[in-house]
Amino acid sequence: MSARVTRLAPSPTGRMHLGHAFSFLCAWALARRAGWKVLLRLEDLDAQRVTPEAEADTLWMFEWLGIDWDGPIVRQSERGAWYRECMTRLAGQGVVFESTHSRAQLREASAPNEGDAVVRFPRELRPTRDEWHFVNESVNHRLAVEPAKITVTDELRGAITVNPAAVWGDPLIWLKSGVPSYQLAVAADDLAMGVTDVVRGEDLLESAPLQLHIRRLLGGDDSLRWWHVPLIRDESGRRLAKRHDDLAISTLAARGETPDGVRGLVAQWLGAIPAPQPLSIASFLDLDVRSLLTSKVWPNYP
Ligand code: GLU
Repeated sequence: MSARVTRLAPSPTGRMHLGHAFSFLCAWALARRAGWKVLLRLEDLDAQRVTPEAEADTLWMFEWLGIDWDGPIVRQSERGAWYRECMTRLAGQGVVFESTHSRAQLREASAPNEGDAVVRFPRELRPTRDEWHFVNESVNHRLAVEPAKITVTDELRGAITVNPAAVWGDPLIWLKSGVPSYQLAVAADDLAMGVTDVVRGEDLLESAPLQLHIRRLLGGDDSLRWWHVPLIRDESGRRLAKRHDDLAISTLAARGETPDGVRGLVAQWLGAIPAPQPLSIASFLDLDVRSLLTSKVWPNYP
């Protein structure tokens, strides 16, 4: 019996599109073929962006595509006690501090390069030691990260080395809205849920070393395996985003597209078949998704 565990971790903030169908079908098929447990975790912490419609759309898409999971749905919005416990652990190690700095202040202090998406928090702005604690959850907190290279070995991409301090400086770890940052929530939950294999889009590849760092601080080991699957791109090379509403699965379904049809498209993207053809769940599971993912050279979305 395999004791391996993966998770599907959608953020219910918009309608699911073909890019999601691709990465979730890959994750699910990889797991089901290998006999891993599949957990479903709704990453619903961003109260500004999460909607009941998006959650319904997400669950509907899983059912429509035949993607199932084991056990109850886990909602991050219900796990506040665990995240606070994690913050207490981090504070106990003296690695978190309060940060009331504005983005504008950080931009000025960190002189970001043109086009940088991330605003780095420079260590010179760290407060004095009396603010290195976790006593007020209505204040942003940051994780003090010392410069060090951290390597994770991705099953599909090989070794990835990142110096999180160079990318993020001291990243946000807790938000003044009273929730953990994305990086803490994911690291904390993957640890607590016994996840052994993280399968997700490669836009999160660079975050893996930071998540491993947080995991270690929380007492976790390095045994987690990573599988970052390619993102599907549109004609202009941009990744499919939630704004591509015409590629939303619910829109395609309303126009008469079938689950077999979408699975066939995914199989074509994987290089399993030369042209899309309808594929049942059973035929999709017959595909050796793991070797297809390992050997594939990635074209753009047609
Ligand atoms: N919820 C994240 C997203 O939808 C994925 C998080 C993860 O897989 O680590 O982009």
